Amino acid sequence: CGIIGYIGKRPVLPILIEGLERLEYRGYDSAGIALMNAKREINVLKVKGKIKDLKVKVENDGYWWSNNHNFHIGLGHTRWATHGRPCEKNAHPHLDCKGKIALVHNGIIENYKKLKEFLISKGHRFNSDTDTEVLAHLIEEFMDGSLEDAVKNALKKVKGSYAIGVISIDDPNKIVAARNESPLIIGIGNNEYFLASDVPAILNYTRGVIYIEDGELVVLDKKGFKICPLRRKREVKKDIVKISWD
Ligand code: GLU
Repeated sequence: CGIIGYIGKRPVLPILIEGLERLEYRGYDSAGIALMNAKREINVLKVKGKIKDLKVKVENDGYWWSNNHNFHIGLGHTRWATHGRPCEKNAHPHLDCKGKIALVHNGIIENYKKLKEFLISKGHRFNSDTDTEVLAHLIEEFMDGSLEDAVKNALKKVKGSYAIGVISIDDPNKIVAARNESPLIIGIGNNEYFLASDVPAILNYTRGVIYIEDGELVVLDKKGFKICPLRRKREVKKDIVKISWD
């Protein structure tokens, strides 16, 4: 129900937690984060419940804060369960089979049953009851070096609504995102970029925002961003909106 993402110089953990707190008003039943370090490891933490439960879990596992300065790319999610009951395993982020891809999703994948059957026939094993998890495996199926190409090809097979954020250790220094009928914005900072369901999640860090539209794919890396239509190759240039309200 809410998505937050960050890539840049700052430690990502506090940014994700604050962003999730600011998205709480959207309602949710569980939450989770996925962080990537320079050693190309993805670490995931999920809880059933509130953001304060996520914070407690982060505090209790000393690993997260003691490695705070090693994580500069990450995704966070608050879930409003549509497929699969609210519980830890169904909370996002979801991973592919090898734990190389992490994905958060807001929306509903309408043809997930067919996709799941296809992916199981290809040898994929599923860990949750969600519609979302098919996206992680489908991207894995198409992954051949470029995360944005894999996401693009995977989304051609997908029917439904989505705002997604994806990271991969096989194409590590970026976040790829896309939207169809679910809200998504990006925040433009100084060599740092944000992804969110809504503007308030990132207002403490930047006031430069681009509203992503249906059928657009976004690539954020430490030096810049690009926005491409999902169905075409050419990049689109969009205006950065300056947010003046608090
Ligand atoms: N349909 C997905 C699920 O049930 C995403 C729900 C959401 O938007 O939070 O996990």
